[in-house]
Amino acid sequence: MKKVTEDELKKWMEHVRIYANNGKVADYIPALAKQQPEINAAAFYHIDGHCVAAGQTKYLFTLQSVSKVLALAVALMEHGEDAVFSRVGLEPTSEPFYTISKLELEKPSKPINPMINAGALAITNMLCGANSEEMVGQILQLIHKMLGDTSIDYDQEVAKSEYESAFLNRSLCYFMKQNGVITGSVEELLDAYTKQCAIRMNIQQLAKIAAIFANDGKDIHSDEQIIPLYYARICKTFMVTCGMYNASGSFAIKVGIPAKSGVSGAIMGVVRDSGGIAVFGPSLDEKGNSVVGIKLLELMSKHYNWSIY
Ligand code: GLN
Repeated sequence: MKKVTEDELKKWMEHVRIYANNGKVADYIPALAKQQPEINAAAFYHIDGHCVAAGQTKYLFTLQSVSKVLALAVALMEHGEDAVFSRVGLEPTSEPFYTISKLELEKPSKPINPMINAGALAITNMLCGANSEEMVGQILQLIHKMLGDTSIDYDQEVAKSEYESAFLNRSLCYFMKQNGVITGSVEELLDAYTKQCAIRMNIQQLAKIAAIFANDGKDIHSDEQIIPLYYARICKTFMVTCGMYNASGSFAIKVGIPAKSGVSGAIMGVVRDSGGIAVFGPSLDEKGNSVVGIKLLELMSKHYNWSIY
């Protein structure tokens, strides 16, 4: 597949920068409301180890829902497929990521998939650890291994800000606790979940994580199998069916790659046999996806023929 050059990536970013004010920065998490819509960055990490980047490449952003893929990978590695799918379903949904209504409809009331908030909370509830620090530590450990960088951590201000304002996520937890989908302390779980969502990195680092998924879970440089192939495939399949929330259908048609977005404005995308792309732009459309990010991926996927379909 044709490689992406730095000049090309810069040119694509120029094309999409004009959309930076077309959406709205997430403000239901107070600390995220401060993000400047003009800050944009993109990187492509080829599976041969070559990375190109454009925009504010040193800017650190939080993963938010992109972390759901990594938490899922950890839960699969810790407990296996059967245990994970006894807690969450495998189907996409046309509801927004914060939906609560579906929980009541499902019998048993397990969340419909691990990419919506309820499902992600149920997954985080499975992570091994005596407290929130140890639980998020499992995800950080995986990220440290993927990036070869043990300095990656979560943003304390963003984590605290979400923890203090996560009333809907609290409601989801209490509903699931009542129905036996989650166990233990709701506050500890929310603490772990909001820390997980606040894990912070730059654009090249997120692109490298996506590249490892493109490389079937293997390290780019050493070829060590960091995530077992089958689990990496499960993660990628969820990215296809529900990674872009209830916009996953139109994204499949317009872009056609496994991808996961977060309300910080981050998106990671997996380009088969080629590498990982990451794009950041905090202005979101009405479904919670980065406007600049979606535009960039649409243009690039068409140009480089990335669609898996
Ligand atoms: N931390 C956010 C939340 O739980 C993540 C949501 C998202 O990125 N879509 O609401």
